[in-house]
Amino acid sequence: MHKKAGKRETGSEKRPRPTSPADEAGMAAALEEARKAASIGEVPVGAAVLRGDTVVVRAHNESVTRRDPTAHAELLAVQQALSLLQTDRLGDCTLYVTLEPCAQCAGAIVLAKVGRVVFGAYDPKAGMAGSVGDVLRHPQLNHRPEVVAGVREEECVHLLEEFFRARR
Ligand SMILES: [Zn+2]
Repeated sequence: MHKKAGKRETGSEKRPRPTSPADEAGMAAALEEARKAASIGEVPVGAAVLRGDTVVVRAHNESVTRRDPTAHAELLAVQQALSLLQTDRLGDCTLYVTLEPCAQCAGAIVLAKVGRVVFGAYDPKAGMAGSVGDVLRHPQLNHRPEVVAGVREEECVHLLEEFFRARR
């Protein structure tokens, strides 16, 4: 599921920083959502948006449920956070997601000007936060969130591996 390839490209961000209580709460919420997704046959990816210590929203993949291949956890979380906070930018928020965002979601994160992104597992096939490319920290884009990678990586990877193993 994950390889060194993506990791090495992320430079100074490759090692997760010591996590704060808010980071622990955020990733715990995202992991819970990922487990929820697995329990209903969705690819186990979960996300949460926190502002300060407050969980604003939590979401998980709903691609199967909605018959919508774009219904990724972090995209839903970003959309719901914007709506709930009645704003068009999330500069003071942190998005937690168990899997490195894809091109679509990384694009949405940049457009919504999310202040910080914390993710768990790398996605060497589709990750756009260092693995396949880096939309989140692209020098030519006008917004670059702070990125922290590899937080509770093993648990995030394990959920995905279990899920795909069970389906084979
Ligand atoms: Zn995505």
